[in-house]
Amino acid sequence: MSNQLHCKHCGGIVKAGNKKCPHCGIPLPPDLGKHPQRKFILFFIAVVIFCIVMIIWLPPNWSKFMGN
Ligand SMILES: [Zn+2]
Repeated sequence: MSNQLHCKHCGGIVKAGNKKCPHCGIPLPPDLGKHPQRKFILFFIAVVIFCIVMIIWLPPNWSKFMGN
């Protein structure tokens, strides 16, 4: 897996742990490079679990919502 990160401001390549972009000098977020995708995956899993819980929890009376 590539550890290449890009500055959101100028698009230049920055290294994980850099506090500032070496290209444009904009301050970089402190969590840059610390597996930002993992947060998204966790959020996605949480949404999926929430959907499953809602499907199980709600009564299977979908005709009410289908306009019948
Ligand atoms: Zn930059």
